[in-house]
Amino acid sequence: MYVSLYRKYRPGRFDDVVGQDGIVRVLKNSLRSGRVAHAFLFSGPRGCGKTSVARILAKALNCPNSADGEPCDNCYVCNSISTGECLDVIEIDGASNRGIEEIRNLKAQIGLASFSLPYKVYIIDEVHMLTDAAFNALLKTLEEPPMQVVFVLATTEPDKVPLTIRSRCLCFYFNRLLTSDIVRRLRQVAQEEGFAFEEEALWELARQSDGSLRDALTLAEQALSLQEGNLSMESIAMLLGSTRGKIEEAIKLIPHNPPQAFVKIKEILSKGLSVERFLEMAFAVFRDMWAYKSYGKDFAVELELSDREIKFLEEESPFWKDDVLLSCMRLCGELCLQAKLGVKDDILFGLFLSQMDRVDFPSAGESPPLPLKPKAENVTESFTTAPWQEIMKQAGEEMLPLYCALICSKVTLDEKRIVIEISERRRFDFNLLKLSRNLAYLYGLITKRFNDVTEIILKCGVDEVKYSDEQEKAQMEGDAEGFRQEELPQAFEEEPQPHEEGLKPAVKLAERREVKEEDIVLQRIAMYLNGDVLMYKKLDEEENIEEDGGVEVE
Ligand SMILES: [Zn+2]
Repeated sequence: MYVSLYRKYRPGRFDDVVGQDGIVRVLKNSLRSGRVAHAFLFSGPRGCGKTSVARILAKALNCPNSADGEPCDNCYVCNSISTGECLDVIEIDGASNRGIEEIRNLKAQIGLASFSLPYKVYIIDEVHMLTDAAFNALLKTLEEPPMQVVFVLATTEPDKVPLTIRSRCLCFYFNRLLTSDIVRRLRQVAQEEGFAFEEEALWELARQSDGSLRDALTLAEQALSLQEGNLSMESIAMLLGSTRGKIEEAIKLIPHNPPQAFVKIKEILSKGLSVERFLEMAFAVFRDMWAYKSYGKDFAVELELSDREIKFLEEESPFWKDDVLLSCMRLCGELCLQAKLGVKDDILFGLFLSQMDRVDFPSAGESPPLPLKPKAENVTESFTTAPWQEIMKQAGEEMLPLYCALICSKVTLDEKRIVIEISERRRFDFNLLKLSRNLAYLYGLITKRFNDVTEIILKCGVDEVKYSDEQEKAQMEGDAEGFRQEELPQAFEEEPQPHEEGLKPAVKLAERREVKEEDIVLQRIAMYLNGDVLMYKKLDEEENIEEDGGVEVE
């Protein structure tokens, strides 16, 4: 029967465990001295060897050939534990057996003598998933377990395990595995299995697996199935969508030939790499360049990179200034955050392009100006570029909730209409945008920059709201209390300049209605919270409240 690489190369003895030397030493010492605790809590990121170490501990306690705290990993006892067939080593998945009933069953069986081995070992994986009642039921047993019973609780989230449980266990914190450790282990496996490999490919796999040896071996296996018996960069690129090398090539082009760089990035994304993952990888490249520049070659060891990658840093980083790199890192970080909030790939990529295009790469010898320079006004009148960016910028400064709603929506220009599509999942954004004051505000922003546009259409699932010129007129003629853009406080703060046509409405409004400082403050509050200030009461001017002191924002 075929055994997957991950299972085949699961460590069977303490000496095979990768990257957890301290824990292994302590466990071996306690086994040697015969003073083994009756309850352990193993915590650490996934794939770092918690369950494997728990099994090795069970073997070491029960193996008839145990020597120096190390099991033989060859006898029938060790084999039965490895294959999960041993009746005295009970593995429980905390995620699917999380209730009090399961723990009661466990307690009922715990007192029974073991079948054949000296020790009964209970391994409860993902123990943080147990319910409070289950934890309480477990508590007493953990405190005074029957002789010859050992508990090993494993979790990726120790903070979710109640303190009462933690305090009754001997706690071990497993390290996240270093990329270099994973590379070493992959190399070992490749040599033992006898397949060809490229060193770069091992680094790529190790980085992708994010500290989990299990993931690294699983990925290696998948890559091997793509290209029989050969772990090459080609098979890795096919499997992962892209490699760090390809991202580096694209980044290298940005200062010299931005359009070419963006074509390359687009190509990378079209092969299946998500924008989020791309941003993470690009961030890492910028970060490494910055660290290399700032701390020098000796520090490069800490970055855990292959020789080729270090060579790239050496050659490329002189072309980048510190603050440019910092801006790029910040940009990638911010966009990653937006990706996590559900912003679509297209939008993220657009934002990445537009911001990157503004990065100023000074020629050598020039003093570094601000890394983000204002974009020259020669951009083509395209929907995705300047005008919409300006709208977003203004909305971001003035109406943050609207900005957030817009950035998460799909916006298209359909002749004279702007169509904003909001996913069903973000219906609250739709409800926010469809408020008449918000629509009026948005309409103002849009018509100022898109002269032809006469209608905005909001779509969310089957719902559709339209806002056009007629509603705009009604709004203008009707209730001037409405939340119009011209009414925004900054219009009042500046000296009115009558010759500027755009400011006329503000001047008109200012004349018609005496604007008080409180109104401005309240409007600002309402604007930022997008909340509704229903009544503002000022105690010393009670008679004014009726007509003017109350500011109503819908
Ligand atoms: Zn053995």
